Amino acid sequence: MKKRIGFVSNSSTSSFCILGIEVNGIEEEKMRKMVQEKHPDEFKVEKVRACECDIDTDQNFCPNCGTHVWEEVGDSIEDLDVYELLELVCQKTPLYFHNYDGDTYIGLGEGGVDSAIKQGKNPAEVAAEAIKEAGIRPDIETTDIRLYSGAYYS
Ligand SMILES: [Zn+2]
Repeated sequence: MKKRIGFVSNSSTSSFCILGIEVNGIEEEKMRKMVQEKHPDEFKVEKVRACECDIDTDQNFCPNCGTHVWEEVGDSIEDLDVYELLELVCQKTPLYFHNYDGDTYIGLGEGGVDSAIKQGKNPAEVAAEAIKEAGIRPDIETTDIRLYSGAYYS
């Protein structure tokens, strides 16, 4: 268990609590592949007609109105950083992640732990299962799950 509590004077603090794993050293490329596999219909950059002239041309600029004939629409997965990728990986799972002091944790938050308990489930098992399913660490065991918490000035 990792715990760091700062003394509170008159500045406000934020805290986090995650039952999960530390994901430092996760490879961005691997994550990118994972996200692409999970969201095959997103991250398609398509060329769409940008000008409305009824001219068939393979030029970049329309000879009639002078604007770009084609426009690229959509988000390329290459534009996302590792945190945005993580966020996508967490979508549709009870997982969330937190960056703290240069470390990144992913797992169940308080709400996730609470709802696991209410369902009579072992929260560590739920966290491990979700992390496995998300593809972040396919070989994870319930015993790999730890509790991480911290507080910091915000
Ligand atoms: Zn045009």
